[in-house]
Amino acid sequence: MIDYAPLEVWFLTGSQHLYGPETLERVAEHSRAIVDGLNGEGGLPVRVVFRPVLTTPEEISGTLGDADADPSCIGVVAWMHTFSPAKMWIGGLTRLRKPLCHLHTQFNRDIPWSSIDMDFMNLNQSAHGDREFGFICSRLRLSRKVVVGHWQEPAVRRRLGVWMRAAAAWHDSQRMRIARIGDNMRQVAVTEGDKVEAERRFGYAVNGYGVADLMERVDAVTEKQVDALCEEYADSYALMQGLEKDGAKHGSLREAARIEAGLRALLEEGGFHGFTDTFENLGRLRQLPGIAAQRLMADGYGFGAEGDWKHAALVRTMKVMAHGLDGGTTFMEDYTYHLDPSDPAILGAHMLEICPTVAAGRPSCEVHPLGIGGREDPVRLVFDAATGPAVNASVIDMGTRFRLVVNTVGVIEPLEALPKLPVARALWKPRPDLETAAEAWILAGGAHHTSLSLALTPEHLEDFAAIAGVEFLLIDDETDVRVFRNELRWNDAAYGRIAPLP
Ligand code: MN
Repeated sequence: MIDYAPLEVWFLTGSQHLYGPETLERVAEHSRAIVDGLNGEGGLPVRVVFRPVLTTPEEISGTLGDADADPSCIGVVAWMHTFSPAKMWIGGLTRLRKPLCHLHTQFNRDIPWSSIDMDFMNLNQSAHGDREFGFICSRLRLSRKVVVGHWQEPAVRRRLGVWMRAAAAWHDSQRMRIARIGDNMRQVAVTEGDKVEAERRFGYAVNGYGVADLMERVDAVTEKQVDALCEEYADSYALMQGLEKDGAKHGSLREAARIEAGLRALLEEGGFHGFTDTFENLGRLRQLPGIAAQRLMADGYGFGAEGDWKHAALVRTMKVMAHGLDGGTTFMEDYTYHLDPSDPAILGAHMLEICPTVAAGRPSCEVHPLGIGGREDPVRLVFDAATGPAVNASVIDMGTRFRLVVNTVGVIEPLEALPKLPVARALWKPRPDLETAAEAWILAGGAHHTSLSLALTPEHLEDFAAIAGVEFLLIDDETDVRVFRNELRWNDAAYGRIAPLP
Protein backbone atom coordinates (compact mmCIF):
# COMPACT_ATOMS: atom_id res chain seq x y z
CA MET A 1 0.00 0.00 0.00
CA ILE A 2 3.06 2.25 -0.28
CA ASP A 3 4.48 2.75 -3.78
CA TYR A 4 7.07 5.26 -4.99
CA ALA A 5 6.92 4.09 -8.63
CA PRO A 6 4.35 6.64 -9.87
CA LEU A 7 6.08 9.55 -8.11
CA GLU A 8 8.46 12.06 -9.68
CA VAL A 9 10.50 15.09 -8.71
CA TRP A 10 10.91 17.89 -11.25
CA PHE A 11 14.37 19.28 -11.95
CA LEU A 12 14.20 23.00 -12.71
CA THR A 13 17.14 24.95 -14.07
CA GLY A 14 17.07 28.71 -13.88
CA SER A 15 18.76 31.00 -16.39
CA GLN A 16 17.96 34.09 -18.47
CA HIS A 17 18.09 35.23 -22.14
CA LEU A 18 21.11 37.50 -21.65
CA TYR A 19 23.54 34.72 -22.59
CA GLY A 20 22.11 33.93 -26.02
CA PRO A 21 20.79 30.65 -27.45
CA GLU A 22 24.13 28.84 -27.60
CA THR A 23 24.81 29.17 -23.91
CA LEU A 24 21.20 28.22 -23.09
CA GLU A 25 21.63 25.07 -25.18
CA ARG A 26 24.70 24.14 -23.15
CA VAL A 27 22.78 24.87 -19.94
CA ALA A 28 19.99 22.50 -21.05
CA GLU A 29 22.55 19.87 -22.08
CA HIS A 30 24.27 20.01 -18.70
CA SER A 31 20.99 19.98 -16.87
CA ARG A 32 19.89 16.85 -18.75
CA ALA A 33 23.23 15.21 -17.97
CA ILE A 34 22.73 15.89 -14.27
CA VAL A 35 19.18 14.46 -14.37
CA ASP A 36 20.39 11.37 -16.26
CA GLY A 37 23.25 11.01 -13.79
CA LEU A 38 20.98 11.30 -10.78
CA ASN A 39 18.56 8.73 -12.22
CA GLY A 40 21.20 6.45 -13.66
CA GLU A 41 23.60 5.88 -10.83
CA GLY A 42 20.91 4.68 -8.47
CA GLY A 43 20.43 5.47 -4.84
CA LEU A 44 17.62 7.96 -5.30
CA PRO A 45 14.21 6.61 -4.28
CA VAL A 46 12.15 8.78 -6.67
CA ARG A 47 12.58 9.45 -10.42
CA VAL A 48 13.92 12.89 -11.39
CA VAL A 49 12.30 14.53 -14.44
CA PHE A 50 14.06 17.16 -16.57
CA ARG A 51 12.05 20.30 -17.34
CA PRO A 52 13.01 22.90 -19.97
CA VAL A 53 15.37 25.64 -18.78
CA LEU A 54 13.50 28.61 -17.30
CA THR A 55 14.38 32.06 -18.59
CA THR A 56 11.34 34.31 -18.05
CA PRO A 57 8.85 35.05 -15.23
CA GLU A 58 6.07 33.54 -17.38
CA GLU A 59 7.96 30.28 -17.90
CA ILE A 60 8.80 30.09 -14.21
CA SER A 61 5.22 30.72 -13.05
CA GLY A 62 3.88 28.33 -15.67
CA THR A 63 6.21 25.48 -14.74
CA LEU A 64 5.76 25.89 -10.99
CA GLY A 65 1.99 26.03 -11.53
CA ASP A 66 2.20 22.82 -13.57
CA ALA A 67 4.25 21.19 -10.80
CA ASP A 68 1.56 22.07 -8.29
CA ALA A 69 -1.18 20.70 -10.51
CA ASP A 70 0.57 17.48 -11.53
CA PRO A 71 -0.58 14.65 -9.23
CA SER A 72 2.62 12.62 -9.68
CA CYS A 73 5.00 15.53 -9.00
CA ILE A 74 5.87 15.44 -5.28
CA GLY A 75 8.32 18.33 -5.27
CA VAL A 76 10.76 20.45 -7.25
CA VAL A 77 14.54 20.64 -7.24
CA ALA A 78 15.88 24.01 -8.37
CA TRP A 79 19.38 24.81 -9.61
CA MET A 80 20.75 28.03 -11.12
CA HIS A 81 23.46 26.91 -13.56
CA THR A 82 23.82 30.53 -14.66
CA PHE A 83 22.47 33.72 -13.15
CA SER A 84 18.67 33.87 -13.07
CA PRO A 85 17.53 37.29 -11.79
CA ALA A 86 15.33 36.24 -8.92
CA LYS A 87 12.55 38.82 -9.17
CA MET A 88 11.46 36.56 -12.06
CA TRP A 89 10.84 33.81 -9.47
CA ILE A 90 8.63 35.80 -7.03
CA GLY A 91 5.30 35.06 -8.70
CA GLY A 92 5.93 31.36 -9.16
CA LEU A 93 7.53 30.71 -5.78
CA THR A 94 4.89 32.54 -3.73
CA ARG A 95 2.20 30.29 -5.23
CA LEU A 96 4.20 27.04 -5.06
CA ARG A 97 2.67 24.58 -2.60
CA LYS A 98 4.91 21.59 -3.31
CA PRO A 99 8.16 20.90 -1.42
CA LEU A 100 11.23 22.75 -2.68
CA CYS A 101 14.82 21.58 -2.63
CA HIS A 102 17.57 23.95 -3.71
CA LEU A 103 20.42 21.89 -5.14
CA HIS A 104 23.47 24.12 -4.93
CA THR A 105 25.80 22.33 -7.29
CA GLN A 106 27.98 22.99 -10.34
CA PHE A 107 28.17 20.97 -13.55
CA ASN A 108 31.98 20.82 -13.53
CA ARG A 109 33.41 19.56 -10.33
CA ASP A 110 36.87 21.07 -10.77
CA ILE A 111 38.17 24.35 -12.11
CA PRO A 112 39.95 23.56 -15.43
CA TRP A 113 42.98 25.55 -14.40
CA SER A 114 44.86 25.53 -17.69
CA SER A 115 41.87 26.22 -19.96
CA ILE A 116 39.49 28.34 -17.90
CA ASP A 117 38.39 31.52 -19.70
CA MET A 118 35.46 33.93 -19.41
CA ASP A 119 33.19 31.66 -21.47
CA PHE A 120 33.63 28.95 -18.87
CA MET A 121 33.07 31.48 -16.07
CA ASN A 122 29.87 32.74 -17.69
CA LEU A 123 28.49 29.24 -18.05
CA ASN A 124 29.38 27.96 -14.58
CA GLN A 125 27.88 30.64 -12.37
CA SER A 126 25.96 28.73 -9.73
CA ALA A 127 28.35 29.95 -7.03
CA HIS A 128 26.67 33.34 -7.37
CA GLY A 129 23.51 32.45 -9.34
CA ASP A 130 22.35 30.18 -6.52
CA ARG A 131 23.00 32.95 -4.00
CA GLU A 132 20.57 35.21 -5.85
CA PHE A 133 18.01 32.37 -5.74
CA GLY A 134 18.76 31.78 -2.04
CA PHE A 135 18.08 35.44 -1.31
CA ILE A 136 14.63 35.43 -2.88
CA CYS A 137 13.68 32.21 -1.07
CA SER A 138 14.76 33.72 2.24
CA ARG A 139 13.15 37.06 1.42
CA LEU A 140 9.89 35.18 0.74
CA ARG A 141 10.38 33.16 3.96
CA LEU A 142 10.17 29.91 2.01
CA SER A 143 10.83 26.73 3.87
CA ARG A 144 13.13 24.63 1.70
CA LYS A 145 16.04 22.23 1.86
CA VAL A 146 19.43 23.37 0.60
CA VAL A 147 21.80 20.61 -0.54
CA VAL A 148 25.37 21.68 -1.35
CA GLY A 149 28.04 19.79 -3.28
CA HIS A 150 28.90 18.23 -6.61
CA TRP A 151 25.95 16.28 -7.97
CA GLN A 152 27.98 13.10 -8.38
CA GLU A 153 29.02 13.00 -4.72
CA PRO A 154 27.32 10.24 -2.70
CA ALA A 155 26.65 12.64 0.18
CA VAL A 156 24.68 14.94 -2.15
CA ARG A 157 22.59 12.04 -3.43
CA ARG A 158 22.02 10.81 0.10
CA ARG A 159 20.67 14.19 1.27
CA LEU A 160 18.59 14.57 -1.88
CA GLY A 161 17.20 11.06 -1.31
CA VAL A 162 16.28 11.89 2.28
CA TRP A 163 14.38 14.96 1.10
CA MET A 164 12.60 12.90 -1.58
CA ARG A 165 11.40 10.47 1.09
CA ALA A 166 10.09 13.38 3.17
CA ALA A 167 8.38 14.80 0.06
CA ALA A 168 6.82 11.38 -0.67
CA ALA A 169 5.48 11.26 2.89
CA TRP A 170 4.13 14.80 2.51
CA HIS A 171 2.42 13.75 -0.73
CA ASP A 172 0.90 10.78 1.11
CA SER A 173 -0.16 13.01 4.00
CA GLN A 174 -2.25 15.18 1.65
CA ARG A 175 -4.43 12.16 0.88
CA MET A 176 -4.20 10.34 4.20
CA ARG A 177 -7.38 9.20 5.91
CA ILE A 178 -7.39 8.04 9.52
CA ALA A 179 -10.34 6.07 10.97
CA ARG A 180 -10.76 6.88 14.63
CA ILE A 181 -12.65 3.90 16.00
CA GLY A 182 -14.09 4.91 19.33
CA ASP A 183 -12.90 8.15 20.90
CA ASN A 184 -10.04 9.17 23.13
CA MET A 185 -9.05 7.32 26.30
CA ARG A 186 -11.00 9.33 28.83
CA GLN A 187 -9.18 12.25 30.48
CA VAL A 188 -5.92 11.69 28.58
CA ALA A 189 -4.51 15.05 27.43
CA VAL A 190 -1.65 14.37 25.04
CA THR A 191 -3.66 12.21 22.64
CA GLU A 192 -6.17 15.06 22.14
CA GLY A 193 -5.67 17.83 19.62
CA ASP A 194 -7.12 20.01 16.92
CA LYS A 195 -8.20 17.79 14.03
CA VAL A 196 -9.20 20.79 11.94
CA GLU A 197 -5.76 22.36 12.30
CA ALA A 198 -4.14 18.97 11.65
CA GLU A 199 -5.98 18.72 8.34
CA ARG A 200 -5.05 22.29 7.40
CA ARG A 201 -1.41 21.76 8.37
CA PHE A 202 -0.66 18.14 7.41
CA GLY A 203 -3.47 17.45 4.94
CA TYR A 204 -4.68 14.25 6.61
CA ALA A 205 -8.31 13.78 7.63
CA VAL A 206 -9.32 12.10 10.90
CA ASN A 207 -12.92 10.97 11.17
CA GLY A 208 -14.70 9.00 13.86
CA TYR A 209 -16.41 5.62 13.55
CA GLY A 210 -18.37 3.70 16.15
CA VAL A 211 -17.36 0.21 17.19
CA ALA A 212 -20.74 -0.79 15.70
CA ASP A 213 -19.35 0.13 12.26
CA LEU A 214 -16.46 -2.25 12.90
CA MET A 215 -18.76 -4.97 14.32
CA GLU A 216 -20.81 -5.01 11.10
CA ARG A 217 -17.63 -6.03 9.23
CA VAL A 218 -16.52 -8.47 11.93
CA ASP A 219 -19.94 -10.17 11.89
CA ALA A 220 -19.74 -10.49 8.10
CA VAL A 221 -16.44 -12.41 8.19
CA THR A 222 -16.90 -16.01 6.98
CA GLU A 223 -15.57 -19.15 8.66
CA LYS A 224 -13.55 -19.77 5.50
CA GLN A 225 -11.82 -16.40 5.91
CA VAL A 226 -11.10 -17.24 9.54
CA ASP A 227 -9.69 -20.66 8.55
CA ALA A 228 -7.38 -19.05 5.99
CA LEU A 229 -6.08 -16.42 8.43
CA CYS A 230 -5.50 -19.01 11.16
CA GLU A 231 -3.42 -21.02 8.67
CA GLU A 232 -1.48 -17.90 7.79
CA TYR A 233 -0.79 -17.27 11.49
CA ALA A 234 0.42 -20.86 11.91
CA ASP A 235 2.72 -20.52 8.88
CA SER A 236 4.14 -17.12 9.84
CA TYR A 237 4.59 -17.34 13.61
CA ALA A 238 5.48 -19.77 16.35
CA LEU A 239 2.06 -20.60 17.80
CA MET A 240 1.86 -20.90 21.56
CA GLN A 241 0.72 -24.32 22.69
CA GLY A 242 -3.07 -24.51 22.70
CA LEU A 243 -3.60 -21.99 19.88
CA GLU A 244 -3.11 -24.64 17.18
CA LYS A 245 -6.06 -26.24 15.41
CA ASP A 246 -7.98 -28.42 17.90
CA GLY A 247 -5.96 -26.79 20.71
CA ALA A 248 -7.71 -25.68 23.92
CA LYS A 249 -7.30 -21.99 23.03
CA HIS A 250 -7.86 -22.19 19.29
CA GLY A 251 -11.15 -20.30 19.74
CA SER A 252 -9.17 -17.21 20.83
CA LEU A 253 -7.08 -17.40 17.65
CA ARG A 254 -10.23 -17.67 15.52
CA GLU A 255 -11.75 -14.66 17.24
CA ALA A 256 -8.54 -12.64 16.70
CA ALA A 257 -8.59 -13.62 13.02
CA ARG A 258 -12.24 -12.58 12.74
CA ILE A 259 -11.38 -9.17 14.19
CA GLU A 260 -8.42 -8.76 11.81
CA ALA A 261 -10.53 -9.60 8.76
CA GLY A 262 -13.31 -7.24 9.88
CA LEU A 263 -10.94 -4.40 10.64
CA ARG A 264 -9.17 -4.87 7.32
CA ALA A 265 -12.52 -4.78 5.50
CA LEU A 266 -13.49 -1.51 7.22
CA LEU A 267 -10.13 0.08 6.37
CA GLU A 268 -10.13 -1.12 2.76
CA GLU A 269 -13.72 -0.06 2.10
CA GLY A 270 -13.03 3.43 3.43
CA GLY A 271 -9.64 3.84 1.70
CA PHE A 272 -7.98 4.46 5.06
CA HIS A 273 -4.24 4.69 5.72
CA GLY A 274 -4.35 4.42 9.48
CA PHE A 275 -6.64 3.91 12.45
CA THR A 276 -6.98 4.20 16.19
CA ASP A 277 -8.90 2.21 18.76
CA THR A 278 -9.29 2.39 22.51
CA PHE A 279 -9.87 -0.22 25.18
CA GLU A 280 -12.59 2.02 26.65
CA ASN A 281 -14.79 1.74 23.53
CA LEU A 282 -14.81 -1.95 22.62
CA GLY A 283 -18.59 -2.44 22.27
CA ARG A 284 -19.25 -6.05 21.27
CA LEU A 285 -15.60 -6.70 20.32
CA ARG A 286 -14.59 -9.79 22.26
CA GLN A 287 -10.87 -8.96 22.26
CA LEU A 288 -8.94 -5.73 22.13
CA PRO A 289 -7.37 -5.89 18.63
CA GLY A 290 -3.78 -7.09 19.17
CA ILE A 291 -2.41 -9.22 16.37
CA ALA A 292 -4.82 -7.39 14.01
CA ALA A 293 -3.31 -3.98 14.78
CA GLN A 294 0.20 -5.48 14.60
CA ARG A 295 -0.29 -7.09 11.20
CA LEU A 296 -2.09 -4.09 9.72
CA MET A 297 0.84 -1.90 10.79
CA ALA A 298 3.22 -4.35 9.12
CA ASP A 299 1.22 -3.85 5.91
CA GLY A 300 1.80 -0.09 6.06
CA TYR A 301 -1.14 1.21 8.08
CA GLY A 302 -0.56 3.85 10.73
CA PHE A 303 -1.82 2.98 14.20
CA GLY A 304 -2.35 4.85 17.45
CA ALA A 305 -3.75 3.34 20.63
CA GLU A 306 -6.21 5.04 23.00
CA GLY A 307 -7.56 7.24 20.22
CA ASP A 308 -4.13 8.68 19.44
CA TRP A 309 -4.75 9.84 15.87
CA LYS A 310 -1.65 12.09 15.78
CA HIS A 311 0.60 9.07 16.26
CA ALA A 312 -1.46 6.93 13.88
CA ALA A 313 -0.68 9.59 11.25
CA LEU A 314 2.98 9.84 12.31
CA VAL A 315 3.46 6.06 12.13
CA ARG A 316 1.99 6.06 8.62
CA THR A 317 4.14 9.06 7.58
CA MET A 318 7.29 7.40 8.90
CA LYS A 319 6.40 4.13 7.18
CA VAL A 320 6.04 6.01 3.88
CA MET A 321 9.41 7.74 4.43
CA ALA A 322 11.06 4.41 5.29
CA HIS A 323 9.62 2.59 2.25
CA GLY A 324 12.17 0.11 0.89
CA LEU A 325 14.80 0.82 3.56
CA ASP A 326 16.17 -1.78 5.94
CA GLY A 327 14.64 -1.70 9.42
CA GLY A 328 11.07 -1.49 10.67
CA THR A 329 8.86 1.29 11.97
CA THR A 330 6.28 0.91 14.74
CA PHE A 331 3.92 2.56 17.17
CA MET A 332 5.70 2.58 20.53
CA GLU A 333 5.39 3.72 24.12
CA ASP A 334 8.09 4.50 26.68
CA TYR A 335 6.98 1.97 29.27
CA THR A 336 9.43 1.16 32.07
CA TYR A 337 12.92 2.30 33.05
CA HIS A 338 16.04 0.38 33.97
CA LEU A 339 17.66 3.01 36.20
CA ASP A 340 20.87 1.18 37.07
CA PRO A 341 23.28 4.16 36.95
CA SER A 342 25.93 2.05 35.24
CA ASP A 343 23.62 0.86 32.46
CA PRO A 344 20.35 2.84 32.24
CA ALA A 345 17.87 2.00 29.48
CA ILE A 346 14.22 2.35 28.51
CA LEU A 347 11.95 -0.62 27.97
CA GLY A 348 9.43 0.29 25.29
CA ALA A 349 6.28 -1.72 24.61
CA HIS A 350 2.52 -1.37 24.56
CA MET A 351 -0.36 -3.41 25.83
CA LEU A 352 -0.25 -5.36 22.54
CA GLU A 353 0.31 -3.21 19.49
CA ILE A 354 3.96 -3.19 18.38
CA CYS A 355 4.61 -3.67 14.66
CA PRO A 356 6.38 -6.94 13.76
CA THR A 357 8.50 -5.11 11.14
CA VAL A 358 10.85 -4.32 14.05
CA ALA A 359 11.03 -7.94 15.26
CA ALA A 360 14.50 -9.46 15.64
CA GLY A 361 13.29 -12.97 14.82
CA ARG A 362 10.16 -14.94 14.15
CA PRO A 363 7.41 -13.59 16.44
CA SER A 364 5.64 -15.88 18.81
CA CYS A 365 1.83 -15.80 18.60
CA GLU A 366 0.41 -15.96 22.11
CA VAL A 367 -2.74 -15.39 24.12
CA HIS A 368 -2.65 -13.99 27.64
CA PRO A 369 -5.06 -12.19 29.94
CA LEU A 370 -5.14 -8.39 29.72
CA GLY A 371 -5.95 -6.65 32.98
CA ILE A 372 -7.51 -3.67 31.19
CA GLY A 373 -10.54 -3.33 28.93
CA GLY A 374 -12.58 -6.12 30.54
CA ARG A 375 -12.75 -8.42 27.51
CA GLU A 376 -11.53 -11.89 26.60
CA ASP A 377 -7.80 -12.61 26.49
CA PRO A 378 -6.38 -11.00 23.33
CA VAL A 379 -4.02 -12.73 20.90
CA ARG A 380 -0.80 -10.87 20.22
CA LEU A 381 2.64 -11.30 18.64
CA VAL A 382 5.48 -11.36 21.15
CA PHE A 383 9.09 -10.60 20.19
CA ASP A 384 12.24 -8.66 21.00
CA ALA A 385 12.99 -5.77 18.65
CA ALA A 386 15.95 -5.83 16.29
CA THR A 387 18.91 -3.82 17.53
CA GLY A 388 20.60 -0.81 16.01
CA PRO A 389 20.43 2.98 15.74
CA ALA A 390 16.87 4.32 15.63
CA VAL A 391 14.79 7.45 16.00
CA ASN A 392 11.92 7.83 18.43
CA ALA A 393 9.51 10.56 17.34
CA SER A 394 6.44 12.18 18.84
CA VAL A 395 4.04 14.84 17.60
CA ILE A 396 2.07 16.96 20.04
CA ASP A 397 -0.43 19.81 19.71
CA MET A 398 0.91 22.91 21.49
CA GLY A 399 -2.26 24.92 20.85
CA THR A 400 -0.68 27.40 18.45
CA ARG A 401 1.27 24.79 16.51
CA PHE A 402 2.23 21.14 16.24
CA ARG A 403 5.61 20.18 17.66
CA LEU A 404 7.64 17.23 16.41
CA VAL A 405 10.11 15.92 19.00
CA VAL A 406 12.75 13.41 17.92
CA ASN A 407 15.27 11.51 20.01
CA THR A 408 18.09 9.44 18.55
CA VAL A 409 18.31 6.12 20.38
CA GLY A 410 20.21 2.86 20.17
CA VAL A 411 18.05 -0.27 20.42
CA ILE A 412 19.93 -2.99 22.30
CA GLU A 413 19.32 -6.58 23.25
CA PRO A 414 17.48 -7.09 26.54
CA LEU A 415 20.05 -7.30 29.34
CA GLU A 416 18.39 -10.52 30.45
CA ALA A 417 15.62 -12.76 29.17
CA LEU A 418 12.05 -11.58 29.86
CA PRO A 419 10.24 -14.94 30.13
CA LYS A 420 7.11 -13.58 31.81
CA LEU A 421 6.57 -10.44 29.70
CA PRO A 422 3.72 -11.30 27.30
CA VAL A 423 4.19 -8.39 24.85
CA ALA A 424 6.55 -7.30 22.07
CA ARG A 425 9.23 -4.96 23.36
CA ALA A 426 12.31 -2.92 22.55
CA LEU A 427 15.07 -1.93 24.96
CA TRP A 428 16.93 1.23 24.02
CA LYS A 429 19.47 3.73 25.21
CA PRO A 430 18.44 7.29 24.40
CA ARG A 431 21.10 9.76 23.24
CA PRO A 432 23.01 11.50 24.64
CA ASP A 433 22.11 9.68 27.88
CA LEU A 434 18.88 8.75 29.66
CA GLU A 435 18.87 11.66 32.11
CA THR A 436 19.49 14.37 29.49
CA ALA A 437 17.16 12.82 26.92
CA ALA A 438 14.27 12.30 29.34
CA GLU A 439 14.71 15.77 30.89
CA ALA A 440 14.68 17.43 27.47
CA TRP A 441 11.77 15.25 26.26
CA ILE A 442 9.68 16.12 29.31
CA LEU A 443 10.52 19.84 29.05
CA ALA A 444 9.42 19.68 25.41
CA GLY A 445 6.16 17.97 26.40
CA GLY A 446 6.85 14.97 24.14
CA ALA A 447 4.18 12.28 24.41
CA HIS A 448 4.49 8.82 25.97
CA HIS A 449 3.35 7.46 22.59
CA THR A 450 5.89 7.59 19.79
CA SER A 451 6.76 6.19 16.42
CA LEU A 452 10.03 4.26 16.57
CA SER A 453 11.98 3.61 13.37
CA LEU A 454 15.13 1.61 12.79
CA ALA A 455 15.13 2.79 9.15
CA LEU A 456 15.04 6.58 9.44
CA THR A 457 17.46 9.28 10.59
CA PRO A 458 16.64 12.63 12.21
CA GLU A 459 17.20 14.29 8.82
CA HIS A 460 14.14 12.54 7.36
CA LEU A 461 11.95 13.93 10.13
CA GLU A 462 13.59 17.35 10.01
CA ASP A 463 12.92 17.58 6.27
CA PHE A 464 9.32 16.50 6.79
CA ALA A 465 8.83 19.08 9.57
CA ALA A 466 10.30 21.80 7.32
CA ILE A 467 7.92 20.87 4.50
CA ALA A 468 4.95 20.82 6.88
CA GLY A 469 6.06 24.06 8.55
CA VAL A 470 5.92 22.56 12.05
CA GLU A 471 8.30 22.99 14.96
CA PHE A 472 11.12 20.43 15.06
CA LEU A 473 13.09 19.59 18.20
CA LEU A 474 15.97 17.13 18.14
CA ILE A 475 17.42 15.45 21.20
CA ASP A 476 20.74 13.80 20.25
CA ASP A 477 24.42 13.67 21.10
CA GLU A 478 24.67 17.46 20.84
CA THR A 479 21.85 18.17 23.29
CA ASP A 480 22.65 20.39 26.25
CA VAL A 481 19.59 20.96 28.45
CA ARG A 482 20.41 24.61 29.10
CA VAL A 483 20.61 25.33 25.37
CA PHE A 484 17.52 23.18 24.77
CA ARG A 485 15.50 25.19 27.33
CA ASN A 486 16.43 28.35 25.44
CA GLU A 487 15.39 26.74 22.15
CA LEU A 488 11.97 26.05 23.68
CA ARG A 489 11.71 29.67 24.81
CA TRP A 490 12.77 31.04 21.42
CA ASN A 491 10.41 28.73 19.59
CA ASP A 492 7.53 29.94 21.74
CA ALA A 493 8.34 33.47 20.58
CA ALA A 494 8.72 32.36 16.95
CA TYR A 495 5.49 30.34 16.91
CA GLY A 496 3.45 32.55 19.25
CA ARG A 497 1.14 33.31 16.38
CA ILE A 498 -0.47 30.71 14.12
CA ALA A 499 2.39 29.69 11.84
CA PRO A 500 1.93 30.37 8.12
CA LEU A 501 1.12 27.50 5.82
CA PRO A 502 4.09 25.94 4.05
MN1 MN B 1 -0.74 3.82 25.33
